Amino acid sequence: MYPHDYHLHSNFSCDGKASIVEQCLSAMAKGIPEIGITDHFDLHPGDECAGFFRPIEWAAEFDRARREFEGRLIVRAGIELGEPHIYQAECQALLKSYPFDYALGSLHWVGDEVVFDRQYFRRPADEAYGLFFEELERMTRVGGIDILSHFDVVVRVGKPVYGGYDPRRYEEVIRAVLKNCIEHGIALDLNTQGLRNRCQLLTPGVEILRWYREMGGERVTLGSDAHQPDDIAANFDLAIEALRAAGLQYVTMFEQREARLITI
Ligand SMILES: [Zn+2]
Ligand SMILES: [Zn+2]
Repeated sequence: MYPHDYHLHSNFSCDGKASIVEQCLSAMAKGIPEIGITDHFDLHPGDECAGFFRPIEWAAEFDRARREFEGRLIVRAGIELGEPHIYQAECQALLKSYPFDYALGSLHWVGDEVVFDRQYFRRPADEAYGLFFEELERMTRVGGIDILSHFDVVVRVGKPVYGGYDPRRYEEVIRAVLKNCIEHGIALDLNTQGLRNRCQLLTPGVEILRWYREMGGERVTLGSDAHQPDDIAANFDLAIEALRAAGLQYVTMFEQREARLITI
């Protein structure tokens, strides 16, 4: 069975469709032994989720759910930080306010443009992808996160717009991102959400995973990015297939921001 699902949203995210308890029940029904709840903490003023996360109420409900499932399901306290390199002080303050097990770092905005809006893709593909990866390099250089979310999420909207995507065109900057991750011990979130939308891609795919392994990277987590219970662990068979094809052997578990590798 799958070891965990480390990227899940509850209705403490503005776009979440399920309570923490409903997500836990679905994970148990699917036989997943460990999950992490990773609601959005977004501060970009243009973001639809900006200011939505309520840390005190979240902690109360999270603690209640964790107790309710004790002995049946391990529930990790995660958070999905948007642009943590830009909102460093706010993100670090949040991480100090509660004993989180891990922090995902996510790049959804490049400057004042969100990469889920087709407007971002009015420019040539190389420019759209290049700007995204350069910003991702700046974000990972700062560190302060445990897991890098959905590496090349820009393709979710970009690939259908341009009709293709070849990470080899951006190999140099992608390798710079991977180097930052390895140096800071940041794991890669092998995110299956793209397999449920029009881009039909795992983010990152096997090519990037292979570069990561060649460079000495070992830390990978599995994430469905489920905003509703049905999507928990969706397409994890394909994620594990990609992991193995890239020559990676472990999945990384987190507790109190300490990583532990288990063989897959
Ligand atoms: Zn995200
Ligand atoms: Zn997410």
